[in-house]
Amino acid sequence: MDNCLFCKIVRKEIPAKICYEDERVMAFHDINPVAPVHILVIPKEHIPSMNEVAPENAGLFGHMALVAKQVSEEAGVAESGYRVVINNGPDSGQVVFHVHAHVIGGRALSNLC
Ligand code: 5GP
Ligand code: ZN
Repeated sequence: MDNCLFCKIVRKEIPAKICYEDERVMAFHDINPVAPVHILVIPKEHIPSMNEVAPENAGLFGHMALVAKQVSEEAGVAESGYRVVINNGPDSGQVVFHVHAHVIGGRALSNLC
């Protein structure tokens, strides 16, 4: 995906503060954090949103959940608490159409919606 921002981060064409990387998944700090900890966990494969996730991606998404858990521990918010959010489509406010999980913590978060 030539023009996808997060694919460019995967290819290291755009810099990011990467805190986890393996062959399937990358995690990096959000450029505009909404809390002291705000990390994005993405698949390296370009999948635009949850709407395009297929049964064969089940293992990948399970792995992303484990990476979210690991980065929350490394960021020091596993015990204080954090939120894992995946925005999908216009009403969610999704702006980058390469699916990603936000890991947000480090302060008390307000109720959803
Ligand atoms: P969305 O609204 O699509 O769920 O979230 C996109 C997120 O990507 C936003 O929180 C935004 O701050 C973040 N973001 C946008 N551009 C960049 C960038 O170039 N680098 C990083 N690290 N994060 C970005
Ligand atoms: Zn992409």
